[in-house]
Amino acid sequence: MNAQKKSLYSLTIDELRTYLKDSGLAKFAADQVYNWIFKKYQFDMDKWTNVSSKVKENLLENFDTSLPKIVWNGLSSDGTRKFLVGMSDSNTVEAVAIPAKNNRLTLCVSSQIGCAIGCTFCHTGTMGLTRHLTTGEIVGQYTAVTKWLRDNVDEEARLTNIVYMGQGEPLHNFENVKQATKVFMQDQGIGLGQRKITLSTSGLVPQIEKLQDFPPVNVAISLHAAHNNIRTELMPINKAYDLERLFGAIKKIPLKAHRYITYEYILISELNDRPEDIEGLCDLLDKKVSKVNLIPFNEYPESRFKRPSDKQIEWFQNELMRRGYICTTRITKGNDILAACGQLKSEHDKLNLWD
Ligand code: SAH
Ligand code: SF4
Repeated sequence: MNAQKKSLYSLTIDELRTYLKDSGLAKFAADQVYNWIFKKYQFDMDKWTNVSSKVKENLLENFDTSLPKIVWNGLSSDGTRKFLVGMSDSNTVEAVAIPAKNNRLTLCVSSQIGCAIGCTFCHTGTMGLTRHLTTGEIVGQYTAVTKWLRDNVDEEARLTNIVYMGQGEPLHNFENVKQATKVFMQDQGIGLGQRKITLSTSGLVPQIEKLQDFPPVNVAISLHAAHNNIRTELMPINKAYDLERLFGAIKKIPLKAHRYITYEYILISELNDRPEDIEGLCDLLDKKVSKVNLIPFNEYPESRFKRPSDKQIEWFQNELMRRGYICTTRITKGNDILAACGQLKSEHDKLNLWD
């Protein structure tokens, strides 16, 4: 791949039409190209029978048409499948396909290689940030996984939801994540609705304040603590943007499309699972517009925190529900292959895939 070239898979349909028109080519070819790549998952231009060779030659010359590679995949006993996705500079990220009822298949995508935020409970956080992913690499996780599933599991496979909950802090890579989200939502292509996409953030206040400029997808805030001292212990970002500033920014999120903000709350034994944490959450969260998603801490090698007992988790959830909150506990998926939340860390960091 040529690093200077833009990925063909990073353009909205309008951008592709404009490009073709400005290049003196038929702009309706954009719909045909979109149909091949985002509906048929056919990336071999020789098979694009209804697209003129002039258009194909132009695209080949001016765009990067390579896809990320599925380097490895592992299937968990619960049906969750983890993919190690290799980029052209041989960095890798992980993407996880999680099945749910009603034929839902959610793809958990990564937005960065590593992460700069450094949360103390997160496996990815221990890596530091290597670099942002490009728009083409974010969209490419979806297309490469879909193609892999169609080639290997089910020729009709379709990923129905996206959560930005893989490696990285999506709002740190604001522009590329925003553009990828637009591409995911294009009707002529993948066509995901705004409620099928969830952006999860650790609480980057200036970027949360810019969410008016972002497609109106679901927003999940990684809260994890209701008291500043505990949140700072878990998430160093709380030193820069404490709870007061965070909630000042959250109040400005336009709630038109999604009436609720989801708050993710990792439950860690004897740290944030106590009665005073329930009280703190009730003081912070408006029950009319908040949903709480409890995530029992997933242990990983070297993690210094402990998961509470099932009884304690149930108690915490019941206490919040008793006070009128919508509260769910995330069932841990993919634990046996280290694909659960916070366990993602590319083991095969620098593989020489392209040598
Ligand atoms: N960086 C973003 C999105 C990726 S993390 C964010 O932090 O929101 C996705 C979710 O997994 C976050 O809520 C994160 O806090 C959670 N997570 C990270 N490590 C975890 C662990 N060890 N156990 C359970 N959840 C974890
Ligand atoms: Fe980064 Fe999210 Fe992990 Fe924190 S929890 S280190 S923000 S990926």
